[in-house]
This record gives sequence, C-alpha cells and structure tokens, in this order.
Amino acid sequence: MNRRSRFIEAASRGKILANKCAKCGHSTLETTYFCEKCSSDIFTTEEYDGLGNVVTFTIQSVAPEGFTDAGSYAWVVFRVDGTTFNVSGFLKDIRAPSDLPIGSKVQVTGFDEKHGLLLKRV
Ligand SMILES: [Zn+2]
Repeated sequence: MNRRSRFIEAASRGKILANKCAKCGHSTLETTYFCEKCSSDIFTTEEYDGLGNVVTFTIQSVAPEGFTDAGSYAWVVFRVDGTTFNVSGFLKDIRAPSDLPIGSKVQVTGFDEKHGLLLKRV
C-alpha cells in the first residue's frame, strides 16, 4: 500500500497515521515526505487516535459544486491529541460559529474521496 492508501485505511478505523522522524523525532502527517525540521526522509510510522480539539474552522454555507450532498459544513483544523500537528477535515451540519466553539472535541470517522477526512463532534 502507498502512503495515501495507508492513511485512508487508518482513517476508516478512526485513526491518524503520522511519520516520526528517525533522526530528530519530530512527528508529521503520514502524507509528508520530508521532515519539516531536519529534512530527513527516514520515518517510523505512528498511529494516533483520530481525536483532537478544534483550532480553527471555516464555514461553507453555500456548498460548492461537488459538495451539494453536504449542505452546510465546516472545514475544521484540529490539533491531534498527543501530538504537535494539526489535521484538517470535514464536519457536516455546522451553520454558525456558535455551532462549533474553538476547542470542541472532534473525532475522525472515515475518509471520503471527495471531502477528505470526515469528522464528527464528540
Ligand atoms: Zn527530523
């Protein structure tokens, strides 16, 4: 399996795959190819629970073409628990900022070819 397939397979189990740099120990998303810190390309794979706190988000109330099945939704950036990196995903049924206070807990529920990571509030 390539990196993308592995990432998607993990997401379908509610997990986030990350690369831990073998050289400096810095963790980044599985989809990166070089360490942000030291540019090494030797990693070990780590699996995290796809749980985290909302850092920021953007509400899309008018769904662009291809997203018409989704209605009102938010692109959410969240900090994965136990890590120092942020992941973005897709959360349905968010209509106003008050629907999703910063710091809300979200969980990965799967991966959609069109939307990317799918999230739910927990
Ligand atoms: Zn490194």
